[in-house]
Amino acid sequence: MIDHLLRQSKRYKSVHLAAGTLISFDDQQIHAQWNESPLAQTTLTIRRVPAQQQCMVCFEKYQPARVEVSCPQCGSVGAKIIAGEEFYFESIEEENA
Ligand SMILES: [Zn+2]
Repeated sequence: MIDHLLRQSKRYKSVHLAAGTLISFDDQQIHAQWNESPLAQTTLTIRRVPAQQQCMVCFEKYQPARVEVSCPQCGSVGAKIIAGEEFYFESIEEENA
């Protein structure tokens, strides 16, 4: 993903990253990787997208603390992940040349 930005060989002022709470990196790990990349001088802002699941039985939508949790309404464990697995750049500010 970072490679993709580098290939464009532009200078960036700041980059905003959307990262769902279900992805396995925490903010600290993402920043650590960023700081080791050639984009370390670019400001990285991480926006955490809260996880949301929908129960397959009663269709209740809820925010789980982690992936396998049971529905707070009916106790069923079959749930579809609606949000929380995002990992993409949502905005990139280029430096004025
Ligand atoms: Zn349910």
